[in-house]
Amino acid sequence: MAEEKREFQAEVAKLLDIVVHSLYSNKEIFLRELVSNASDACDKLRYEAQTQAQLTEGDAEFRIRVIPDKEAGTLVIADNGIGMNRDDLINNLGTIAKSGTAEFMSRLSGDAKKDTSLIGQFGVGFYSAFMVADKVVVTTRRAGDSQGWRWESDGKGTFTITEAADAPRGASLELHLRDDSKEFLDAFRLKSIIKRYSDHIGIPVLLKEGDTEDTVNAASALWTRAKTDITDEQYKEFYHHVAHAFDEPWQTIHYRAEGAIEYTGLLFVPGSKPFDLFQPERKNHVKLYVKRVFITDDAEGLLPPYLRFLRGVVDSQDLPLNVSREMLQHNPVLAKIKTGLVKRVLSELKKRAEGDAESYASFWENFGPVLKEGIYEDFERKTDIVALSRFKTTSTDGWSSLDEVVGRMKEGQESLYYATGDSVDALKKSPQLEGFLAKGVEVLLLTDPIDEFWVPALGEWNGKKLVAVTDSSADLSAVKADPEAEAAKPEAAEAASLDTLIAALKLNLGESVKDVRVSDRLTASAVCLVADQGQMSLHLEKLLKAHKQVDHDTPRILEVNPRHGLIKALAERVKSSGRESIEDASWLLLDQARIVEGEMPADPVEFTRRLAAMMEKGVA
Ligand code: ADP
Repeated sequence: MAEEKREFQAEVAKLLDIVVHSLYSNKEIFLRELVSNASDACDKLRYEAQTQAQLTEGDAEFRIRVIPDKEAGTLVIADNGIGMNRDDLINNLGTIAKSGTAEFMSRLSGDAKKDTSLIGQFGVGFYSAFMVADKVVVTTRRAGDSQGWRWESDGKGTFTITEAADAPRGASLELHLRDDSKEFLDAFRLKSIIKRYSDHIGIPVLLKEGDTEDTVNAASALWTRAKTDITDEQYKEFYHHVAHAFDEPWQTIHYRAEGAIEYTGLLFVPGSKPFDLFQPERKNHVKLYVKRVFITDDAEGLLPPYLRFLRGVVDSQDLPLNVSREMLQHNPVLAKIKTGLVKRVLSELKKRAEGDAESYASFWENFGPVLKEGIYEDFERKTDIVALSRFKTTSTDGWSSLDEVVGRMKEGQESLYYATGDSVDALKKSPQLEGFLAKGVEVLLLTDPIDEFWVPALGEWNGKKLVAVTDSSADLSAVKADPEAEAAKPEAAEAASLDTLIAALKLNLGESVKDVRVSDRLTASAVCLVADQGQMSLHLEKLLKAHKQVDHDTPRILEVNPRHGLIKALAERVKSSGRESIEDASWLLLDQARIVEGEMPADPVEFTRRLAAMMEKGVA
């Protein structure tokens, strides 16, 4: 077959450009990336060979070879792993299949410095070869196939694929080093890089020096070693390898479970937020091994989705080696391992939460929205997870636990109050909060979509009911006002009697409102919307509308502030001139209340007409 020339996917071309032009600061990591890929390829074949022994073609001694050639100016990294067929080559080395790629690309700014740190988080894998090479030739044959392939590219937009008749099993990457990267031909330099980044890999990495080959790494899987024999640096490099991450782990959890079920866990909580945290699949990212043999990085039953931020490996003694990925789903041993892992991880988080609140806050900011899903999904663990949860509130700027908020409840306060919305700042200005602020009652400010689900599911904490401030049942009359808050409150104006106004508003607004009521939660604003008991919250409806799950507005209760000048004036007007005289004003009040909630006016054209008419009267 003749040579076939193809173009890289647009994203790859862009990524390559950045890799070549701005990732210069830490070029040596290309070797870690390529050795890491080679080790994954060996792991994959070892797994497949459990059920299809013939795939190893009689050679099950996995190894990775690093071969510098000073004369040719090339560095070869070769493995005898699974290899790639023609389609694999096109899909794996011509596109980026990684989830979150589109979002990642949209965040690239063109500013080299900022982009470099972003790419650092994303991981460039194979493409990092182009940091040091101006030509890369991959010769590969997939285990079990007779046909081998040669892939070649200068990283500038296109690659070619040709048949390679005598390709050995696995993949061999020949890097034609740039002039400024010839340092990577030096054996001493290569050894120190491999030692530094790849020591933990369970497969021997051999470096060719003259006629000899040295094993450079320890070649025993890191998690099998005693904790006391592992340095922080080694843990970190292992984390970079398993997580394809570049940041520092926030927490490392390494333990061996003994007893009824035996397994080793080496888990990491990342120091920064991975890109795919909110992908709909909610996949876990911990690799499952059985007796050192890699099985899958997609074992559904290994961890609950609310711990999907974890990275690392779990190695079990008690699962059969030939367990298929499908069989894993309902495996009772796996279920027990899962229970053990969850318990361990939550208890480690508890230690950090109690021991170092500041550092815990950084964890919470990254992963709190994910962990909170567990309150809703894990019935047995929900109280543990609530205890680990932290909240923004109206009383302090930092994070508080629910117990702390309960401890600060006011005399006479029966319930815990919360407001849901898109941002803490917007919530703080919400009219529904005015009455709470005036009485000094603390309100939880919840801004994660998941909050709409777990709060009603939990219902109460420490015997205190959780009540939304937008719920019509939120009643503050029994709460003793704070002397401080009371003093800061503007002189309470006398409340007007609103019976006639309320009747007129109800008639004018008809079906568009559930009811119209006098409010005791407003101090500064004229009106606000609240949900009737049992109704979906205003924020949830907005979220569902954004996702096209709901296509109508639920009529809400319009609350009016009897102390507000506008309301008083309208009450007077109704009495003297009848309800038709406040028809436009009624709709403007409702639209105002909707706008503060982040909604559109019910009818934008009518809204503008009414507003213009009112303004005209005002300026005339
Ligand atoms: P990642 O490793 O994060 O998936 P890479 O860009 O490094 O991304 O590699 C893309 C894919 O190419 C890998 O997922 C793997 O399927 C394939 N690949 C890379 N290197 C090898 C190799 N040495 N042997 C077999 N497959 C490989």
